[in-house]
Amino acid sequence: MTIKDKVLVVEDEKSISGFIRAILTANGFDVIVAHSGSEAFSMISSHCPDLVVLDLGLPDMDGMEIIETVRQWTQIPIVVVSARSYERDKVQALEKGADDYITKPFGAAELLARIRVAIRHTRTGLANSAIASTGKFTAGDLTIDYDKHQVLIRGENAHLTQNEFRIVALLGKCAGKVLTYDFIMKELWGPQSKGSNQILRVNMANIRRKIEKNPAEPQYIFTEVGVGYRMIEGDS
Ligand code: CA
Repeated sequence: MTIKDKVLVVEDEKSISGFIRAILTANGFDVIVAHSGSEAFSMISSHCPDLVVLDLGLPDMDGMEIIETVRQWTQIPIVVVSARSYERDKVQALEKGADDYITKPFGAAELLARIRVAIRHTRTGLANSAIASTGKFTAGDLTIDYDKHQVLIRGENAHLTQNEFRIVALLGKCAGKVLTYDFIMKELWGPQSKGSNQILRVNMANIRRKIEKNPAEPQYIFTEVGVGYRMIEGDS
């Protein structure tokens, strides 16, 4: 089973959104289109796309406003596609939190390359920031020590491998939330890892053997069948 990356194209000109849709669909992406800023906001929250391709000149608002607003609640990658070629517009978009900027007219290869890079960066970013973060996460007898790269059970080192630690570290950073198999795989092993979650299952079986009293009835990391894993919420 392959899960496609979903791209939201925010563009009011039908010929351009049609062009982008054709390129992306032909290259294995799922594409949804918003024709205005307000439509973009509702589609980002209802469809959770993996990336946004954003035109700056929209009928109801300026794309810069969209970048600013979206960045208040999500780090979803945003690639700006605009006819404005001024340096200051590019700088402004990037400063507001866009990940990349393409000037119209652009070619299919360029668009695809930029989108793939933006998705990859965000993904490695979250996993890396989880691994690189500091402090502790505690839930009952479980402690994730982010400084020492260790998981402790009742104060004892559970001796996780590097990969096992990365999985637990990521789940701990998003405790209480379900992370899909696909998301975890891509976070930890890059976008090419999609397709099989065997490696993740094997690692999870080992993690549970090391941290759970009864691996068949986990208390810390739960399986959401067919979806992914969820770390119990931490003690506050
Ligand atoms: Ca436009």
